[in-house]
Amino acid sequence: MSASLPNHPCQDVVAYADSQLQATIALLGTFLRIPAISCDAAHTADVAQLADTVAAHLQTLHPTDCRVLQLPGAHPMVAATWKSSNANAPTVLVYGHLDLQPVKGEVWRTPPHEPTVVGDRLYARGAADDMGGWVSHLAAIAAWLQVRGDLPCHLRLVIEGEEECGSSHLEQFMDTYPEVFTADAMVLTDCENPSTEVPGLTISLRGISEMVLTVRALGADVHSGLWGNAVPDVATSLCKIIAGLVDGDGRPTVGLVDWPAQQRQAAAAVPIPDEVVTQGAHLLPGVFPLPDRDRPRAEWLWLQPAITVVATTMPHADRKKNALRAEATATLSVRLAPGQTAQQMHQLLQERVAALSPPQVLSDLALLPGDGQGWLYQPKGEAFVAANRAYKAVWGCEMVHIGVGGSIPFVALFGNRFKTLPLILNGVMDPETTAHGPNESLHLGVFRKAILTNVLLLHELAQPGVLR
Ligand SMILES: [Zn+2]
Repeated sequence: MSASLPNHPCQDVVAYADSQLQATIALLGTFLRIPAISCDAAHTADVAQLADTVAAHLQTLHPTDCRVLQLPGAHPMVAATWKSSNANAPTVLVYGHLDLQPVKGEVWRTPPHEPTVVGDRLYARGAADDMGGWVSHLAAIAAWLQVRGDLPCHLRLVIEGEEECGSSHLEQFMDTYPEVFTADAMVLTDCENPSTEVPGLTISLRGISEMVLTVRALGADVHSGLWGNAVPDVATSLCKIIAGLVDGDGRPTVGLVDWPAQQRQAAAAVPIPDEVVTQGAHLLPGVFPLPDRDRPRAEWLWLQPAITVVATTMPHADRKKNALRAEATATLSVRLAPGQTAQQMHQLLQERVAALSPPQVLSDLALLPGDGQGWLYQPKGEAFVAANRAYKAVWGCEMVHIGVGGSIPFVALFGNRFKTLPLILNGVMDPETTAHGPNESLHLGVFRKAILTNVLLLHELAQPGVLR
């Protein structure tokens, strides 16, 4: 890829942004040195300090408005606005988050809060999730202002301070400061790329729910020597019921979704090789990824429900006793297919539990409150055609549609609240990033491409007929 993009109307801005790459990496480094771990009260002041540091830097880019927004009990949010000299230009909102996952208990090869370049990667907590994401936009904004003294679009930047603890006040920020979230299109920068060579556009999320399976048989624990073989063991029954909820591979026997060809083909178009699973999920030697069977792996990961046993009341070995227990429970984390509700999946599993339950025990499956909705998006319209022009010019290919197996609250919130707007979910993560784990890193080639793409994205989204 040539950074000069000859004959491109923005080649001067692209070339300037590219010439500033080392300075942009250094700027990213100053932010990464502040351990803004939002879910650890010991770092509350660091989150506030980083928000102030970011806001102070944004002031050097001469925004029309720049504020650190506060709500009681919430970490701060940084919000800035730039006006284009073209009053009719559309408004593009860029979302990112400045807070970090903790590093406690993790073994790092380099200090997690001291950004370190090794080969073509920058190692630090938050390098890719998500500081590299929004800093790549700061670099694009700076380049436009430096070279042209203007931006092609009106721009809003929203940088959240508590994404890593579930964005619990984001909706309240949206309600309290609606003007900050008014836009014609949104670029949400906290997502993945399928590889360092192929850019990703995230279009789906799985939902999440928790259910508690309870098996009861006795009014009290009784001696296993006196009563074994005469009364049921609830722990064994519990295991048998759970085993019947899944097939031989451990995948749900109910609730699988028959997707139309469009979704199946989109998932099949993103191969996820065995090596990626083996490395990414730390499979032990001799352990292999589950077979695909009749569905591509991406469909299993993004578009189908999954059941995981996350807790049981069976005593830990040091609290064992020779007794038949009165009751045994297991907490199931149930990932939901996009569009599937927790109630639908609960009903299907409830019927299955009733069918699997041995007649001599009493069983029950309860749905816990607090489930999170999945999300499935159709990226249609001129904004995506325009965005793909920017990606194609820099990456040499268009964005590939991908899903996320997890349930990111901010995505579901934006997705459900602004569903009529073009939502471009991109980012700077790649399969080797290990976000939330030790040795998180940002691929500097991806970072560079993200900066240059963002330069072009503002130009493309501003073209007449794209957003207005
Ligand atoms: Zn993130």
